[in-house]
Amino acid sequence: MTSLDAFAEKKLKPLIEQGLKRHIHVTTRTAKGHALRGERPLISFCCNDYLNFTHHPKITQAAKNAIDQYGAGSGASRLITGNHPLINELEQRLARLKGTEDACVFSSGYLANIGIIPSLAGAQDIIFIDEFSHACLRAGSSLTQAHMVFYRHKDMAHLRDLIGRLRKGHRNGLILTDGVFSMDGDLAPLDELSVLADKNNCWLMSDDAHGLGVIGNGKGSRHMFDPLPHIPLQMGTLSKALGSFGGYLCASRPVIDLIKTRARSLIYTTALPPASTAAALAALDIIETDHDYCRLPLENARLFAQLARLPKPDSPIVPVIIGPTAKTMHFAEILEKEGFLVTGIRPPTVAPGTARLRFTFSACHQKSDIRALATVLKKHGII
Ligand SMILES: *Cc1c(COP(=O)(O)O)cnc(C)c1O
Repeated sequence: MTSLDAFAEKKLKPLIEQGLKRHIHVTTRTAKGHALRGERPLISFCCNDYLNFTHHPKITQAAKNAIDQYGAGSGASRLITGNHPLINELEQRLARLKGTEDACVFSSGYLANIGIIPSLAGAQDIIFIDEFSHACLRAGSSLTQAHMVFYRHKDMAHLRDLIGRLRKGHRNGLILTDGVFSMDGDLAPLDELSVLADKNNCWLMSDDAHGLGVIGNGKGSRHMFDPLPHIPLQMGTLSKALGSFGGYLCASRPVIDLIKTRARSLIYTTALPPASTAAALAALDIIETDHDYCRLPLENARLFAQLARLPKPDSPIVPVIIGPTAKTMHFAEILEKEGFLVTGIRPPTVAPGTARLRFTFSACHQKSDIRALATVLKKHGII
């Protein structure tokens, strides 16, 4: 065995023992929220395709037309020859939807976060992060030399205390949070966060990967608050409710100009392909006009929560915390045998001891499927 293979096996051994080795199962997603694993058709309750836009005929047609007209790939970084006019159009549309002066499209949400944060924070700065924030907000922060501090999940008293003690020793302060928390489905207190940020000369950045398209009339988590909170950095993805691929930042013109000049994950990576860009534009057309349709995922999540006697959800994500990893994975297997695809979420994606089944609801789930799911969960003592 080579030293490299020995290294890999040694690293994997404890992970295998803790049930933390990951398996990537071949799964074919089909229209209407179904999935095939091997020959088995399953109803998926774990996809982020909340509006089933990955298979929407208008959106897939827009992608096909873009390929026919402009080709499969984008050819280069946006700063070289990859900046297709469709990308500029998409940026204008996103800025309009989010109410900002400008926007910047990236090739994924992850790439957006690891490009934006290091462009804005350095060694003299401090970054306050909600402890439940998505891995790529952490990854972006660790690419800076800034002082990183985690505040307890949505605990404004804790954040206020940390700011009081630490903000003054630093040049700039950044506050990072998911708008809708990806593994818990709850909303960040964006109203309180924005007040706290503005009062203490900090810049608030929200990652609205799970808000766009499904809450706040499709405009995302900021629109769940009245008055609208001031969020100078509004980031998100095109790959969840929009059913396409890519990421974005909506912000003021000077900020976007800086990002386009500095963000390494924009400059040194190939631009979003025309098909993904066109699909995202077609998805925005529907989100901006069909508000009733956009409300369906949350309605379905609320029906499920009611049947399962869980707290009323704020988003289409409903977690059922199991605790131990092995038990969680066992429950996921039981559900698969019953015809439901629900992936177990375990550390390090969530904190040790909080492994969970994470149910996500989409516009095309049938009420009867949701009822059947709740019944099966009760039958097996999962809820
Ligand atoms: C999925 C997700 C991302 C990453 O977006 P991609 O476009 O899939 O790279 C970022 N932040 C949050 C909160 C997410 O859930």
